Amino acid sequence: MKLIFLGAPGAGKGTQAEILSRLCGIPIISTGKILRDAIANGTPIGRRAKEYVDSGKLVPDDVIIGIIGERLTEADCKGGYILDGVPRTIPQAEAIEAGGIEIDCALSFEVEDAVIIDRMAGRRVCKKCSAPFHITAKPPKKEGVCDYCGGEVAARSDDDPETVKTRLKVYHEETEPLLEFYSRRGKLKTAENRPTVEETTAVIRGVLGI
Ligand code: AMP
Repeated sequence: MKLIFLGAPGAGKGTQAEILSRLCGIPIISTGKILRDAIANGTPIGRRAKEYVDSGKLVPDDVIIGIIGERLTEADCKGGYILDGVPRTIPQAEAIEAGGIEIDCALSFEVEDAVIIDRMAGRRVCKKCSAPFHITAKPPKKEGVCDYCGGEVAARSDDDPETVKTRLKVYHEETEPLLEFYSRRGKLKTAENRPTVEETTAVIRGVLGI
């Protein structure tokens, strides 16, 4: 199963990707995580991406297309994957298509901006394995410690309210056109937001028929 998770930052893509990845036994390919790791390791890609990620802007398409082209050829992608946060622009979607990849479904997470701004203030992430948490909706069992790998759980630097506003604006301008792109190809499905993580998972499983 090849899935694309589309939606604004903070819409719940990462949280639901974790759950579905475990459920279906397929990896999550998150360009945001790949970029954060590259920045932390000071690689050439990381150095090029840093100012974009820090300011909430999109990293140039050629960088992303290079990352994704390489990652999708790795062995663990053979049985399918969840693309979380990629593609984010029409050229990225076209490059994936041009690479001969046929996705099964682009799932759009529909959440209002006001809910997102509220939610992002409480968002936390494991610095080591990137597992997502939230101070009220999904707190780690032990404060500040990841349930899965024991890594440190903290706020992401680009989740501060000003950067979140930029990221939402970028989402509406550059990523939302992908809804029409996938709708025209008959691949678009929609997952409505629910108050809890579990209820939203149930909605997604219904939509995907799994
Ligand atoms: P995310 O973890 O998906 O919210 O991504 C964090 C940041 O990484 C974004 O705000 C962008 O700066 C950058 N980024 C991640 N994925 C992409 C992408 N597909 N295209 C461009 N920039 C990206």
